[in-house]
Amino acid sequence: MTETIKVAYLYEDLMNTYGDSGDVKILRYWLSKQGYATVVDNISLNCPFDASDYDFVFFGGGQDYEQTVVAKDLARFKDTLQTYIENDGPMLAICGGYQLLGSYYKTSSGTVIDGLGILPLHTVFKADSRMIGDTEFETPFGTVKAFENHSGRTYFDDKTKLKPLGKMIQGYGNNPDDGVEGMRYKNTFGSYAHGPILRNENIAKAITALVIENHQKRTAAQPV
Ligand code: GLN
Repeated sequence: MTETIKVAYLYEDLMNTYGDSGDVKILRYWLSKQGYATVVDNISLNCPFDASDYDFVFFGGGQDYEQTVVAKDLARFKDTLQTYIENDGPMLAICGGYQLLGSYYKTSSGTVIDGLGILPLHTVFKADSRMIGDTEFETPFGTVKAFENHSGRTYFDDKTKLKPLGKMIQGYGNNPDDGVEGMRYKNTFGSYAHGPILRNENIAKAITALVIENHQKRTAAQPV
């Protein structure tokens, strides 16, 4: 019997800039090559959500306005996502989604918007100096090519806990100061890379393997 991988797509209808939904489509492709079917649930405003029901969680980028709408709804997912992340659940958060995993982001006008507060990072917007263009960075999986388009500058508050996803070869990544792109904590990845990032086969295959591993762990734990 074909096994089905369950994907939670956080706020698919609101957080989907620059073709980030392509990440889920590419993951689906690699999973199908290994014989798995996939279902994708849009977990949006007012939807119930238990992350332990899923094999993978995706959180894409969003425009500033949509991000503020999502930020207000998101707090109710803190506990379930924190447990999922701490239990090595695989998650990929891009751009606005990545920013919202942190403690806060501060807009150009000085307003502070709370994030989930799961990971020790924060973001400061500089509207007058947007970071736009092609990016290339070196990761443990190999070189990743993508593009970025963000005003938010993300900084780690605990560099012993969070590791960058890669070292910049071209572009800005997290901010103009640190020379690094994205973040990895356990099996949770954050990145500013659009393109979508998973068009890079190296990282797509690595995340696919983590998703299958989590699926096997999750289904083995279920009573028959
Ligand atoms: N609005 C955020 C920024 O500019 C995120 C952009 C995005 O997710 N594409 O930093």
